[in-house]
Amino acid sequence: MTDGARMATRSGVRPREAATHCPYCALQCGMVLHATTDGVEVAARDFPTNRGGLCQKGWTAAELLDHPDRLTTPLLRDRPGGELRPAGWDEALDRVATALRTLADRHGPDAVAVFGGGGLTNEKAYALGRFARVSLRTRHIDYNGRWCMSSAAAAGNRAFGVDRGLPFPLADLGRADTLLLVGANPAETMPPLMRHLTDQRERGGRLIVVDPRATATARQADLHLQPLPGTDLAVANALLHIALREGYLDRAYVAARTTGFDEVRRTVAGYWPAEVERLSGVPVADLEATARALATVDRAIILTARGAEQHAKGVDTVSAFINLALALGLPGRPGAGYGCLTGQGNGQGGREHGQKADQLPGYRRIDDPAAREHVARVWGVDPAALPGAGVPAYRLLDSLGTPSGPKALLVFGSNPVVSAPRAARIESRLRDLDLLVVADFLRSETAELADVVLPVTQWAEEDGTMTNLEGRVLRRRALREPPAGVRTDLEILAGLAARLPDAAPLPTDPREVFEELRRASAGGPADYAGITWERIDADTGVFWPCPDEHGPDRPRLFADRFHTPDGRARFHPVTHRPAAEPVCADYPLHFTTGRVLAQYQSGTQTRRVAALRRAAPGGFVELHPDLAARLGVAEGTPVRVVSRRGELCAPARLSPTIRPDTVFAPFHWPGAARANSVTNDAVDPVSGMPEFKICAVRVERA
Ligand code: SF4
Repeated sequence: MTDGARMATRSGVRPREAATHCPYCALQCGMVLHATTDGVEVAARDFPTNRGGLCQKGWTAAELLDHPDRLTTPLLRDRPGGELRPAGWDEALDRVATALRTLADRHGPDAVAVFGGGGLTNEKAYALGRFARVSLRTRHIDYNGRWCMSSAAAAGNRAFGVDRGLPFPLADLGRADTLLLVGANPAETMPPLMRHLTDQRERGGRLIVVDPRATATARQADLHLQPLPGTDLAVANALLHIALREGYLDRAYVAARTTGFDEVRRTVAGYWPAEVERLSGVPVADLEATARALATVDRAIILTARGAEQHAKGVDTVSAFINLALALGLPGRPGAGYGCLTGQGNGQGGREHGQKADQLPGYRRIDDPAAREHVARVWGVDPAALPGAGVPAYRLLDSLGTPSGPKALLVFGSNPVVSAPRAARIESRLRDLDLLVVADFLRSETAELADVVLPVTQWAEEDGTMTNLEGRVLRRRALREPPAGVRTDLEILAGLAARLPDAAPLPTDPREVFEELRRASAGGPADYAGITWERIDADTGVFWPCPDEHGPDRPRLFADRFHTPDGRARFHPVTHRPAAEPVCADYPLHFTTGRVLAQYQSGTQTRRVAALRRAAPGGFVELHPDLAARLGVAEGTPVRVVSRRGELCAPARLSPTIRPDTVFAPFHWPGAARANSVTNDAVDPVSGMPEFKICAVRVERA
């Protein structure tokens, strides 16, 4: 299809304004885009999550639409080490399809892999999964959500039988008598969410934060527990130990709605608060105050986020907090419960519709014969032709270009050169590929390595749906046509599918894709069958599961039963174990990573926005003044953080609020300041999530 013909298929005249949502994080703040003579203006829109607020990232998001770095033509590299050069779409897609066909013929379909992202719309995530399984017939697909939400997802699935990050609307936070945030820093990652926390405080609620750093959120808390990184699980078990000792167990709830408590009781009996204080550094009095604050109120909510989850024991750590919540009878009680704060823009929807290695749309398992049968029928293929489960993201990336691994990788909406753990190794794997294809609208660090770069639309140029951190399905609405030469991800997948042998045509209209997604998800745990674009438009989104177009959606889950076969939640006994890489004489400090207010993820976008660059111009290493004094380091002194895998170099930033045995660096920057040059690639055995949050390092003057 020519560019002209393709443009003619897009809807005709665009509106001068569009009510949509922010392109960045999972809060999906409501915004209105206005087309002006100078470009696009962003205004905040009142929506239940952001209540009229936006953070700096949202306000400035439109700056990238006409940014000089914007890609508007495909780029090809003709030989290894050569420069990328502009090319036409037919040449680029022909090059990719020919190479994919050749590699699959020579090595089998698993020689080709696909890597997606948690920022892709539901329609793109779904289409990517279908493209991999039907057009490429490869089992190798996974995505960068494996870095973010997979441990909480696995823990939620095994306890509740379903993974919806928040099983209640965000507004419930404002009514909680006690709110426990574990490893979450919304004051910097999702500032408008703090409006709900302000409500909570003004109603007399207590906020308790568990975080090794005195973050902007922790500084607002009534009580801040500051454990050694990697000891959250022990803290949770100690809280449950205290709750049982003090008689706070909700016996009726545990008897009627759960199974497996006795083994958990035996396990936590050994978590004496004094011993956990020695292990974690959290005083017994604070542990006791926290247990009391959770157990002696009507409405208590426990939320975990990346701080608790990005560990080689992240699933068990989340399970420990779920055990605590279940023992106190919180999940399913109005205004109370457990939830996880999802991070990426479509982190929730992106993990429901087939981008994950072991998953089919609707959060179905790919090894479930009934699920394969259902989805294969929607796709018009033989269930036996669908590949089996692939491997989680890090294993996939680490196998690229090796004798038994994929020889080609297609990347959509991700930048693993900056975001993957042990990033230098992954960068080297990418260089070993026969073919690397990156679809992006900017030249990310991963795109810089690619053989083919395909320029795609941005959020203000596309229609579709996103599912926010509450499980609320939202509409993304286009304001304007994309620049000439740019295509949507759906058009790219369709263009490739059309060039592959025996591949069924793929739809390019997002609404058509969504209609297919509804059918494919029907009957699955994440059931979208009853959700239509009209229904979303008529209200403030629709919560899944929603199996019936004329029936209600489900803002709150678990009121009567959990999504397990017998309707009961499952306790899981879990025990503390040390970090995968303990400190030692050569590497005596703990290293942890995170985000800053003015940057987002790998920074490909936000590092190019002038106001955000001014606010957060580069990486830094945060360390305690006592540690700095021992090292002879002053504010701004360049320091080197060295682990067994690599090093980062950035200016020191002194802070008395970080533990003296711990150093921190944000992960938004590439090059010398790349935090993931240092991080550990140990992964959780259940979720495959890497241990971004702790490894052993030494710090030197650079
Ligand atoms: S909080 Fe998240 S969704 Fe809201 S404006 Fe900021 S980045 Fe966008």
